[in-house]
Amino acid sequence: MQYKFTELFDIPALTKLCQSFTDINGVVTALLDLEGNVHIATGWQDICTKFHRKNPATACRCTESDTFLAGQLENGLKYNVYRCKNGLVDVAVPVLVNGEHVANFFTGQFFFEPPDVEYFKEQAAEFGFDQDEYLEALGRAPVYSEETIKINLAFLVKLTEIIGEMGKDKIEKIQANEKLKALASTDSLTGICNRSHFIEETKIYLKLASRNQTQLQLMMIDIDHFKVINDAYGHHAGDLVLKKFSEYVLSILRETDLFGRIGGEEFSLVLQNTDIQGGDFFAEKVRKGLENLEINYLDQHIDLRVSIGIASFSTNDTYHTLSRKADLALYRAKETGRNKVSRHCPELPQASD
Ligand code: GH3
Ligand code: MG
Ligand code: MG
Repeated sequence: MQYKFTELFDIPALTKLCQSFTDINGVVTALLDLEGNVHIATGWQDICTKFHRKNPATACRCTESDTFLAGQLENGLKYNVYRCKNGLVDVAVPVLVNGEHVANFFTGQFFFEPPDVEYFKEQAAEFGFDQDEYLEALGRAPVYSEETIKINLAFLVKLTEIIGEMGKDKIEKIQANEKLKALASTDSLTGICNRSHFIEETKIYLKLASRNQTQLQLMMIDIDHFKVINDAYGHHAGDLVLKKFSEYVLSILRETDLFGRIGGEEFSLVLQNTDIQGGDFFAEKVRKGLENLEINYLDQHIDLRVSIGIASFSTNDTYHTLSRKADLALYRAKETGRNKVSRHCPELPQASD
């Protein structure tokens, strides 16, 4: 299962419900995931907890019984009744979430007829149990008629259905939240990070670079004369350019680089573990690649040119100071003719907080 068991089911609330069920009629309950972890256990009989599940040889039989029951359920049964190898009766009901078998609800640790005491005396001798204590625990294990068990099972089957529904609802809730989170962090036109998410992520990258003493480059990219593209070909063409632009940059990025849309036709890139030469090389690759990009709108070729400002991270930089440096460099690229890469250098006006 993709989700953690405890993430899907409200175990404390279910435990309370199961405990009430046990308090009313003494029936044992247990909820086990498919790895055998017990998440709920109410009313378990001493004969099981203090004897059979304690002694390694009889405990082995308990696991065998659990596994057998769970195995039978995989054959599509609503529930399965089984006489365990230690002599008691166990019942398992599968918990299905969206048709997937994720857990088993167990009841059991009872008899359909008064137990054969001689058999249990032999068992005490075989496994070294204190006979008096063992037989006392045996005496406390209930004897139910098949009719009583059928009534209880009607309740437990319904309860497992509700548990399954609970899991299904929880999955839907988790997925809806994941979708919302993705929507809140994504730019709807290009599908890349939006401004706020990009800034949030960049701040984390800066902390990492500072802690690990690694180099990092931040680029600001602004499309040249984008207004002219909109004016000449229309807004749809402008949108297409923004999409093609993003697709191209994404296609040449490393997985660990960050790419976001900062504003209308302004984008930013963070290159982790990248020195000045690497940053300049990549910025030029982006510029040149975009220049050569085939963008056609209604059979017309649209020329794409960009100006790029790039700055290197210094230990004291915040997102604000570093992006400001890249902005200043971008401004210089625009001022000095566009369609070029300009690196921030100390002669440029200093960025300040
Ligand atoms: P410069 O070379 O100086 O950057 O000039 P420019 O025309 O690119 O810059 P300017 O700021 O004058 O114009 C940007 C334009 O981008 C104006 C705005 O309508 C357009 N724009 C912003 N967001 C979108 C969008 O999502 N889609 C489209 N089609 N156009 C957009
Ligand atoms: Mg522009
Ligand atoms: Mg702009």
